[in-house]
Amino acid sequence: MFGYFWNAELAHRRVGVTCPEVPDRCRVLAPQDVFGSANGIQVGSFESREGDILSLAHDAAYIAEVRNAYSWGRRYLDAGDTLVTPNVFEQSLLAASAGCEALDQIMNGRLASAFCAIRPLGHHANPRRAMGFCVFNNAAVAARYAQSHYGAGRILIVDWDVHPGNGTQEVFWNDPSVFTLSFHQADLFPESGRSDLVGEGAGKGFSRNVPLPPGTGRCEYLKVFEPVVTGVARAFQPELLLISAGFDAHARDPAARMELTEEDFGRMTEIVLRATRPFTGGRTLSLLEGGYNPNALQTSVAAHCRALATLSA
Ligand SMILES: [Zn+2]
Repeated sequence: MFGYFWNAELAHRRVGVTCPEVPDRCRVLAPQDVFGSANGIQVGSFESREGDILSLAHDAAYIAEVRNAYSWGRRYLDAGDTLVTPNVFEQSLLAASAGCEALDQIMNGRLASAFCAIRPLGHHANPRRAMGFCVFNNAAVAARYAQSHYGAGRILIVDWDVHPGNGTQEVFWNDPSVFTLSFHQADLFPESGRSDLVGEGAGKGFSRNVPLPPGTGRCEYLKVFEPVVTGVARAFQPELLLISAGFDAHARDPAARMELTEEDFGRMTEIVLRATRPFTGGRTLSLLEGGYNPNALQTSVAAHCRALATLSA
């Protein structure tokens, strides 16, 4: 069974009138609007976990900073993208909790795979700071949670958001148990994601960045994506797959200049699932990252989830 996690409070979260990370991104992802009658979809709910899940991926001082930022009168958590709202801590903790709830159900066999339609996104946040609308790193928290609570060993995080998954890579920079694989448009925010960034120490070779030129469409994208994903899956043999699923490489997305369509996100999901299923048994958790055209986001999420539901079972 495939699980879909969505929460009305996060969907309606306001972060400033000029921010492209708008509530509509998640409002259009209400389960009934994505799936209609929702056949074969288990709609899941989640509540806030204790704050200690955050320490799986973040330093105590940073967690305290987010908790207190509003009362300290801070306007931004970073240089100017990630706004401090009165409940930024509670809502960001709630978003990070979604992946833990989904993982409980995946690791206990009640779900084969799941998608969490959450805000704020997470993949730019590193252990010590917020960045680019990201407060806590939802994927990193989920990976560490699977390891600490369920003894998961090797975990592969595939990040196909159009921006590099730099925060996630920083969390696991020296760690060979989590392979981070990021596909993104070259030379885009936050000026990371070069192909020579591969991890360090014991983690050297367990981070991989695949920058692609602006204007890349389906053929060129998949020509790179498929062999890289297949090669990494075979070599690393992950026990669990996480997807940092941003949809801002869509042709109609205003954040970048890639040329993918909603069908392409379905095809990418198929490729990743087929490559990893022999090792993961289909156990897959996908977390929403970017995607700034709500209509394109809705159809892309639908294609992604249909493929997940079909192939992880
Ligand atoms: Zn992005």
